[in-house]
Amino acid sequence: KPAPNDLNAFWMPFTANRQFKKNPRMFVGAKDMHYTTSDGRQVLDGTAGLWCCNAGHGQPKITEAIARQAGELDYAPAFQMGHPAAFELANRIIEIAPKGMEHVFYTNSGSESVETALKLAIAYHRARGEGARTRLIGRERGYHGVNFGGISVGGIVNNRKMFGTLLGGVDHMPHTHLPALNAFSKGQPEHGANLADDLERIVALHGAETIAAVIVEPVAGSTGVLIPPKGYLEKLRAITAKHGILLIFDEVITGFGRLGSAFASQHYGVLPDMMTTAKGLTNGVIPMGAVITTGAVHDAFMGGPEHMIELFHGYTYSGNPVASAAGIATLEVYKEQGLFERAAELAPYWADAVHSLKGARHVIDVRNEGLIGAVELEGIPGEPTKRAFSAFLAAYEKGILIRTTGDIIAMSPPLIISKGQIDQLIGTLGEVLKGLE
Ligand code: PMP
Repeated sequence: KPAPNDLNAFWMPFTANRQFKKNPRMFVGAKDMHYTTSDGRQVLDGTAGLWCCNAGHGQPKITEAIARQAGELDYAPAFQMGHPAAFELANRIIEIAPKGMEHVFYTNSGSESVETALKLAIAYHRARGEGARTRLIGRERGYHGVNFGGISVGGIVNNRKMFGTLLGGVDHMPHTHLPALNAFSKGQPEHGANLADDLERIVALHGAETIAAVIVEPVAGSTGVLIPPKGYLEKLRAITAKHGILLIFDEVITGFGRLGSAFASQHYGVLPDMMTTAKGLTNGVIPMGAVITTGAVHDAFMGGPEHMIELFHGYTYSGNPVASAAGIATLEVYKEQGLFERAAELAPYWADAVHSLKGARHVIDVRNEGLIGAVELEGIPGEPTKRAFSAFLAAYEKGILIRTTGDIIAMSPPLIISKGQIDQLIGTLGEVLKGLE
């Protein structure tokens, strides 16, 4: 067994990320707000893992619930059998979901939640005798996971270059990022809601009777934290409702407190027909996701006129006992510690801190919402991602973990972060930016 700090001794059949291979860094432990590195340093987690460890690391209630459940009932088949934890968790999810959301379809990841929601959308229309509604509309710079549906509706150009849009009839709205208007705006930008009008243009182009659903992240995370302009999501809702098109919010990042309420849907006061979730559902500890739907979407899928009894849907691990127990414990921790409210209370302090980086070297835009923030750097011509990645490496050396996507630095700390730790995170990042080439 190789020593944890002897990175060259690790075999590499593991298909590690290219950036990792060039510059391997290892974590060997984590507690609350910190990771422990293989060389024994503490690194402040400015990213909640990958936007998922909202309650911080090593949360005892969650880890104990997992161990207890694994000892009592480790696995149960989900099709003809059930177990109580899956039911209890579904009830707890619906308790905190916006009014109108009534059912939960379990999955094991954000990508699976997206695929499930796209299927549900098409099934919903088919069950209502509108079988021609199979088109799906996504958004440029949207990210919906790595499976074929998610890639197709997603807006990551390189992924689409490689695979095309393998789902038939997919189209994309423009993204909402207008640096000239939005640069340095705190919270929701005032301008840009008219971008939603592009949806009307796309609907007119294809005909509403061919469109099943529109999918967007309320705040696009993985492509650089794009905050929706005021009125934008409301307009998407109005246009989709008018044309009988389902609206799916991909809440994989925004779900479970990131914006200061359970879901972005409540934060923005817009009710979609489905919400895709994962990550924070189990605090990132055990893979689990859930698609949360209205009664109408559920009823069409589970018992439409064609009666979908022949339809085979569900994953081996959907709502498995250990993941369900982790989910229950996670939602209890969020509630007991009032973490969603805490995120809302900290948001103005966070906004000020993130915006203090405005004048820093190479910074061309700063964005925030809830406990999510981004600093966009001017890229080096011909070398996209290089400058931000240098910032990532320097930050890591100085003891903070940030995430970069293109030339954008994204931050989404666990919701347990203190004001002092916000100062440390942003202060250290400020020093790093000063020293950047
Ligand atoms: N949707 C969104 C909005 C995401 O941010 C992500 C992951 N970052 C996914 C889907 C995919 O989730 P997973 O990696 O769990 O498959």
